[in-house]
Amino acid sequence: MYTLIDGKAVSQSRRNAIATEVANRKAEGLPVPGLAVIIVGNDPASQVYVRNKEKACLEVGFHSELIRLSEETEEATLLSVIDRLNGDPAIHGILVQLPLPKHLSAKTVIAHIDPKKDVDAFHTVNVGKIMLGEDGFSPCTPAGIMTLLSAYGIDPDGKSCVVVGRSNIVGKPMAMLLLHQNATVTIAHSHTKDLAAVTRTADILVVAIGKAKFITEDMVKDGACVIDVGMNRDENGKLCGDVDFERVAPKTSYITPVPGGVGPMTITTLLENTLKAARLS
Ligand code: NAP
Repeated sequence: MYTLIDGKAVSQSRRNAIATEVANRKAEGLPVPGLAVIIVGNDPASQVYVRNKEKACLEVGFHSELIRLSEETEEATLLSVIDRLNGDPAIHGILVQLPLPKHLSAKTVIAHIDPKKDVDAFHTVNVGKIMLGEDGFSPCTPAGIMTLLSAYGIDPDGKSCVVVGRSNIVGKPMAMLLLHQNATVTIAHSHTKDLAAVTRTADILVVAIGKAKFITEDMVKDGACVIDVGMNRDENGKLCGDVDFERVAPKTSYITPVPGGVGPMTITTLLENTLKAARLS
């Protein structure tokens, strides 16, 4: 029988700890952590993500500023908003919701955020720190996964870990964090030959592809721990992961559900990074 990794419960206990620290800061007259979220355009999924981030901020007592810019916003305007936030002492974290409209360069925009306020850890300075294993901001989704593993006593040390997906926000930093914990890490992607043979070697399998129910039971070793990062809609429009949960779960020792697994941890790490930025300011 497998254990369901409860991301909601782990997330809630971490958010309670954050709320307590924020209350203590207030009592001591220290600034409340402030997060600014910028959204450009009307992408429906992005609207949901930014609302959830704002809600989470308010829940733990943070100051939250949501800046909505029109789809046609010019780069210079967006950069000037970031300049203003870089200089605002009430704002400790700045997040620009991706994807941006096509005429804007995410690379230019992220490079403009003060690395000390880059709580998404996308700036090259922070990406470099993740690579080097230096103290800095945690990459939100991968660090949230490391927190889940630790909460369930799953130690990657010496284990064979396979990460499917090599995006800059999930796959690559995930592999780095596992490597820093002494796992033997393989990164698989769309050019990987015989993917099932690779995924079957995994004691810990992390899947971040973006294809509904792509990982089937024949691709998973008996007793593996399976972490599903995917957020997709199935044929009935229901939220589902990259793993075919019903068929895969019985083979696993631990597995994350979608929803309620990795998702809540991503925002919790964002809150933790913002609190860290406030502590360091
Ligand atoms: P992405 O940038 O689209 O990257 C997808 C990766 O999957 C790429 O590296 C791609 O390989 C690989 N891939 C695609 N098809 C494959 C196949 N048939 N076999 C093996 N690898 C394949 O996606 P992402 O931003 O990492 O996100 C992945 C999923 O996680 C999405 O569903 C997203 O919504 C979800 N997500 C969830 C959270 C959360 O908080 N829960 C956070 C971020 C993302 P190539 O590089 O070769 O193209």
